[in-house]
Amino acid sequence: MAAPRQLDALIVGAGFSGLYMLHKLRSEGFSAQVVEAGSGVGGTWFWNRYPGARCDVPSVEYSYSFDPELEQEWTWKERYSAQPDILAYLEHVADRYKLRDGITFDTRVTAADWDEDRSRWSVATDRENLFDARFLILATGALSEPRLPDLPGLENFAGPILNTARWDDSVDLAGKRVCHFGIGSSGIQTVAEIGKIVGELTVFSRTPSFAVPCSNPPLTAEQSAAFKADYPAIRQMQRHSALSFAELPKAGSAKECDPAEREERLESAWTASTFSMLMEFDDLLFDDESNALVTEFAQRKLAQTITDPEKARKLIPQGSPIGGRRLCAEIGFYDVMNRDNVALVDVREEPVTAITADSVETDRGSYPADAIIFATGFDACVGAIKAIAIRGRGGQAISEEWADGPRAYLGLAVEGFPNMFTITGPGSPSVLSNVVISIEQHVEWIARCMVDMRENDQQVIEATSEAEQEWMDHAHEVAQQTIFPKVNSWYQGKTRDGRQVFMPYVGGVGAYREKCTQIAQAGYEGFHLSKAAQSGETVAS
Ligand code: FAD
Ligand code: NAP
Repeated sequence: MAAPRQLDALIVGAGFSGLYMLHKLRSEGFSAQVVEAGSGVGGTWFWNRYPGARCDVPSVEYSYSFDPELEQEWTWKERYSAQPDILAYLEHVADRYKLRDGITFDTRVTAADWDEDRSRWSVATDRENLFDARFLILATGALSEPRLPDLPGLENFAGPILNTARWDDSVDLAGKRVCHFGIGSSGIQTVAEIGKIVGELTVFSRTPSFAVPCSNPPLTAEQSAAFKADYPAIRQMQRHSALSFAELPKAGSAKECDPAEREERLESAWTASTFSMLMEFDDLLFDDESNALVTEFAQRKLAQTITDPEKARKLIPQGSPIGGRRLCAEIGFYDVMNRDNVALVDVREEPVTAITADSVETDRGSYPADAIIFATGFDACVGAIKAIAIRGRGGQAISEEWADGPRAYLGLAVEGFPNMFTITGPGSPSVLSNVVISIEQHVEWIARCMVDMRENDQQVIEATSEAEQEWMDHAHEVAQQTIFPKVNSWYQGKTRDGRQVFMPYVGGVGAYREKCTQIAQAGYEGFHLSKAAQSGETVAS
C-alpha cells in the first residue's frame, strides 16, 4: 500500500460544496484534495438523474455568487433549471477553475481517525489510497445518502428496481406496469414525467406533501440580461435574508388581513413561485392560526385540482401546517394522478405485505409491476457523515456521538472532533435555505479560519462542549417558536428511543451569517485553538 498522501485538507464530496471548497483553499495556498464516490462532479446533480429532476429555487439564485465573472458568462435557459443543465454548470465550474486534477473520483471515504499524537486526520478509502491531512472537511451533502424501504420479498422481484437518487436511464419504462413509492419532491417530479409514458402506474404514498404549480417559462434574452445586471442586488438580498432567497416575506399577518384581500393575495401567490405561498405574509412559519388559513387555502386549491375524491383524500395533506414539510413544485403531477391508468395506494391504510417476481401485494390487493421505483428520500443531514467511520479524540465515533441526534457548534464543528468541519451540517440553516448560498458562507468561513490559524501559528481548532451546548439550546429554542417541530418530516432526526430531533437551524441565514462572522472576529469564540501535539509541519503548504 502506498504511503498516505500529505495534505492540508482532505475534502469529501464534489458537489457545490466540495468544488468551491477546493477552489477556495487552493487560492489561499493550501494543499487540498477532494475524494468523491461518484465518477463525476456535481453531487446531487450527478446522482439525481431521474426524469423531471430540476431545482425549485430559481437558477439565477440557485448558483454560485462568489465570482461575478462566472455569473456574467453563464446563461440559464429556464427559471428552474433541469438536472442536465445544473450538472453542465457544475462541470463548467470544475473546468473553469481547473479543479478536476484535485479530485479523486470513484472513491469512497470509508474511515477517518484523528491521530492525537500528530494532530492530523488519517483518512482511508475503499480504493486503498490513504490521506494524511491536517483538516477533514465533510462536503458530503445533507441529501446524499438515499433511504430505501425494507419491503418484504423485494429480493424476489424480477424486474428493474430504480431509485431516483441513483437513476439508471438505460431502463425503458414506456408502456410498462410501474409501481412507484414516495411522493415528496423527487417522487412528484418523477411521476409527472413517467406518468406520460408508462402503461399502468400504481403510486404508493405515505405522508403527502403540498405541491404548488411550478411556472417555468424559458428565460428570454432580455430577462437574462436584466438578471445579470441585477446580480449584485440579488446576492446582497440573498445573503442577508432569512432563507437566502432574493424575495423577502411580505410584511403583515395572514390572520389580520381582510379575508377577501387575503384570498386574492393567496390566489396570485399560488402560481407565482415555489415558495410564494409562504412569503405572502411574514408570520406563516410562526403563527398556527395564520398558517391554518393558508393551509386551508392550499387544501381547497388541491381539492379543485384532483378530480377523483378518493385520490384527493389521500393526496391532500391533513393536520399538517403548510411549509412544515418542504413545499414541492409540480409540473403536471396532479394531471398524471388524475389519469385512469394511475392508481394510488396509501401504505398507512393499505400496507405492503409482499413483493413477488412481478407484483406488489398489499393487505387489500395485488398490483402488477414490471418495474419498481423508489423515491423514498434520504437519511437527511447526518446519513452521509455517519456512513463514514469517523473517530475523533479518544477514539469516539461520530455515529455513536450522534446516536441521539446530531450535536454540533454552528452546524460547522463538533466537540471531540478537532479540525473537522461539516459544510451545511446539522444545526446550520442548510436545507432550510437556498443551499448554495449557505454552502458559500460555510466554505468562506472555513477558509478564513484556516488562514487565520496559519497566520497565528495555530494548528488545531475544536469546538468547546459549552459553546456546542449553548448553540444546540439556542437552535432548539428558536425552532420551538416555529411550526417545524410540529410536523413529521425529514427535517427531524431520530434518537435511539424514537424521539424526534429537529436538525436544521431556523434562525435565518442572515442572522446566522452575522453570528458566524462575529465569532470569527472575536478570535473564534467557543472554539479552543492550539498548536499541534508535536511540532510537525505547519498548516501552510
Ligand atoms: P451533494 O451535492 O449531495 O454532494 C455530496 C457529494 O459527496 C456526493 O457527490 C457524494 O457522492 C459525495 N460523498 C458523500 N459521502 C462520501 C464518501 N464517504 N466518500 C466519497 N464521496 C462521498 N437545494 C436547494 O437549495 N434548491 C433546490 O432546488 C434543490 N433541489 C434539490 C433537488 C434534489 C433532487 C435533491 C436531492 C436535493 C436538492 N437540493 C436543493 C439540495 C441539494 O442537495 C443542495 O442544494 C446541494 O446540491 C448540496 O450540495 P453539496 O455539495 O453540499 O452536497
Ligand atoms: P422526501 O421528501 O423525504 O420524500 C420521500 C417520500 O417517500 C415521503 O413522502 C415518505 O413518506 C415516502 N416514503 C418513504 N418510505 C415509503 C414507503 N415505504 N412507502 C411509501 N412511501 C414512502 O424525499 P425526496 O422526495 O427525495 O426529497 C427530499 C428533499 O430533496 C426535498 O424535500 C428537497 O429539499 C430536495 N429535493 C428538491 C427537489 C426540487 O424540486 N428541487 C427535488 C427533489 C428533492 P414519510 O414522509 O412518511 O417518510
